[in-house]
Amino acid sequence: MKDIKSMTLAELTEEFTALGEPKFRAGQVYTWLHRGARSFDEMTNLSKPLREKLAQNYALPSPTVARRLESKKDGTIKYLWRLTDGNCVESVLMRYHHGNTVCISSEVGCPMGCAFCASTLGGLVRRLTPSEMLDQVLFTQLDSGLPVSNIVLMGIGEPLDNYDTVLRFLALVNSPEGMNIGMRHISLSTCGVVDKIDRLAEENLQLTLSVSLHAPTDEVRSSIMPINRKYPVDTLLAACKRYFEKTGRRISFEYAMIRGVNDTPQMAQILIKKLRGIAAHVNLIPLNDVAESPLKPSLPETVRAFQQTLEQQGIPATVRRTLGSDINASCGQLRRNFERENGRM
Ligand code: SAH
Repeated sequence: MKDIKSMTLAELTEEFTALGEPKFRAGQVYTWLHRGARSFDEMTNLSKPLREKLAQNYALPSPTVARRLESKKDGTIKYLWRLTDGNCVESVLMRYHHGNTVCISSEVGCPMGCAFCASTLGGLVRRLTPSEMLDQVLFTQLDSGLPVSNIVLMGIGEPLDNYDTVLRFLALVNSPEGMNIGMRHISLSTCGVVDKIDRLAEENLQLTLSVSLHAPTDEVRSSIMPINRKYPVDTLLAACKRYFEKTGRRISFEYAMIRGVNDTPQMAQILIKKLRGIAAHVNLIPLNDVAESPLKPSLPETVRAFQQTLEQQGIPATVRRTLGSDINASCGQLRRNFERENGRM
């Protein structure tokens, strides 16, 4: 059966026409779906026969809360969602001054194999569907009672490995009849899948592209990120330049500070040289300690010095504030602990 919540309003309208239903009914159903209806029976402005017809023709899966953790320090809420097939993914709701931001997953597990990341330890299980991505935003908002104004695709998975689904999700969450979240309020983070960055540039969306750079040399980057063997640093940065030229959107580079690996003054100098001439902003992230990995976070004074070096030489750089440290809020870890407790990993 077709997943009704993964359809755009235009597609739904076509379906309804084929079912012999008037167009405005599609609009009514779309509104219910994007307000978080969990069954057709909730759609009380539809006749009972129509609700039954829809239930016979379409699937309407929705996730349940497997676990919910709330930070006492800063109100960050972490959700572990159980999908209808039993798999779990994480979302995190962060409360910033500029609005509530939800970080969502794009895949169950991840195929990219970055050495420091908890999400990739068990490999890729499967890609999410558009509605499974939308539901993370929708049900985080409904469950928490907090309006979501910003979305970051920085949870479990590589969004550009699930390209078509992510694009469809963006269309759904952006639609005026749905959650109506503007592209400028959405960030998409990638480990650097160059052919897909070029494809995304062609879509010319006003979202923010975040690139997980983490190291400015091929030697270091290849040692922590396997994708770098396919798309080396210079190839990636050239794609970032093209992306900016096409979209006019400045790239945000993520750089997880790893003690003794990528945090030396020499690395800062190489990074500065590589980023010259690219409209960039560097986001320094103190590495999150992952038990299975020997990589350790840089010392706070090293992070500060690295930031100052970049700033002094004209590369805008900020240190990302750590939220939800008391609830293990960095992605991948909750799912992993949960699956392990249940003997599945
Ligand atoms: N696959 C995408 C998005 C998911 S990861 C990507 O690679 O960008 C979101 C961000 O968290 C990425 O920048 C990723 O490199 C980073 N990250 C993963 N594990 C981390 C850790 N242990 N500490 C700090 N950042 C981490």
